[in-house]
Amino acid sequence: MTTTNMTVEGLIIDGQKVAAADGGAIDVYDPSTGSVFTRVARAGRADVDRAVAAAARAMDAPAWGGLEPAERGRMLLRIAEAIRRRAEELATLESRDNGKPLRQARTDVQVAARYFEFYGGVADKIMGHTIPMGPGILDFTIKEPIGVSAQIVPWNYPIQIGSRGVAPALAAGCAVVMKPSSEAPMTALRVGEIGLECGLPPGALNVVPGTGSEAGVALASHKGINQLTFTGSVEVGVAVAKMAAENVVPVVMELGGKSPNVVFADADVDLAIAGVAKAIFQNAGQTCSAGSRLLVERRAHDAFVDRLVAHTRTMKLGPGVDDPDMGPIISERQLETIERYVAIGLEEGARVAAGGCRATGAGLCGGYFYEPTLLADVTRGMRVAQEEIFGPVLAILPFDTVEEAAAIANDSEYGLVAGVWTRDINKAMALATRIKSGQVFVNTYGAGGGVEMPFGGYKKSGYGREKSLEALASYTQTKNVCIKYA
Ligand code: NAD
Repeated sequence: MTTTNMTVEGLIIDGQKVAAADGGAIDVYDPSTGSVFTRVARAGRADVDRAVAAAARAMDAPAWGGLEPAERGRMLLRIAEAIRRRAEELATLESRDNGKPLRQARTDVQVAARYFEFYGGVADKIMGHTIPMGPGILDFTIKEPIGVSAQIVPWNYPIQIGSRGVAPALAAGCAVVMKPSSEAPMTALRVGEIGLECGLPPGALNVVPGTGSEAGVALASHKGINQLTFTGSVEVGVAVAKMAAENVVPVVMELGGKSPNVVFADADVDLAIAGVAKAIFQNAGQTCSAGSRLLVERRAHDAFVDRLVAHTRTMKLGPGVDDPDMGPIISERQLETIERYVAIGLEEGARVAAGGCRATGAGLCGGYFYEPTLLADVTRGMRVAQEEIFGPVLAILPFDTVEEAAAIANDSEYGLVAGVWTRDINKAMALATRIKSGQVFVNTYGAGGGVEMPFGGYKKSGYGREKSLEALASYTQTKNVCIKYA
């Protein structure tokens, strides 16, 4: 079957599944095989206009804007339950669309459900406070929804990152226009459908898959949005923030990272090996918070690297739906970027301790596979130590002292996440307080979604916080009411 014979799945606008206004469609690729497996409508400016208008109407309509907060919360809880009920279907679709191993996709789906559950429980607890102004004055604040929230989502964790922004926005009473990436749009559309099935009124959640240059630009520059949450690369984030600034629209920026994992010689080695490997190879390294720099105390360095090499040799690659240890890269273009970075590393003087090339072999034909790769003899200034590769490539650097570890860890324009592996609480705290990043894990990394924990970047990793109760700050605005009485 040629792709033109495939059914085109519609956008979700104003409670309906609709074709793009210009009839455009996107081929959706399975990165495990390199072939098209479905097609979705490609939103353009006219569709984004329709979606933003529908969201604005929802804000003013009794069915959404006038809803009791507790009822909003119940809707989100129903969405959480529906996602759990359809978990296997959603995980399989995510695995096909993105290439990630099924067990990772299953985790992502559970985390997505957890976002709706967590924020469903919060919807009726978004409170202002009273301010003591003295006799005869009652002063209080109200937390009002900020309005139409635009959500621009990347391809690497579509259902998880989409839900991370959509759930708190809906809990706060906002209406949402979500633009998933054209490279992995499927589960966002399913969440939109589930929302409608669970009672979200028309316009409360619109889903408009499309390219960055069309739908992305149309949404980010739209005069009708009141808030924007962007998750993606620094380069695009800066462009999006500039567009939003033209309309004085506040932005949450969740950008890239070059997160360090710091392993001291006294660490529990088994724990650290498993943690370090998962931090870089989960999702084939295509994770904003990937632990893509490994700092190892020099006296433990060689033995630790040997163990890590042995670990990578046990890893099985394959199509995501076969649930291997590592799936493919999202696209040929991203695969070429990874190849280019490894070549740069070698030119700079790094040494390939494991991997370092495309993965071939039975079951990998046509897919975009790259070997789990360890680059040793990396030094601080090298591009492979500084730039986000977004692939399964770990840059390894030795250090001698706590001070040096902190200095190397902070020698980055990013500051998203860090890991510290040691049995010594003093070393752990020395680094936890010195490392400039939004999150520090000690003897663990990632905490399985961490819906309850604030997440976001220092430096070029972004600003604003998602997850936890802190995320609500982005979706509410404070109104102060001052009453003088006799
Ligand atoms: P990307 O920046 O290319 O795209 C992200 C989203 O922006 C996509 O939906 C894309 O279509 C859209 N877009 C692209 N150009 C646009 C434009 N000019 N205007 C408006 N929208 C536009 O990122 P990606 O390749 O999808 O994802 C990888 C990047 O995302 C990495 O840098 C990674 O670190 C980052 N990321 C960050 C987090 C986080 O929470 N901090 C999470 C996941 C990914």
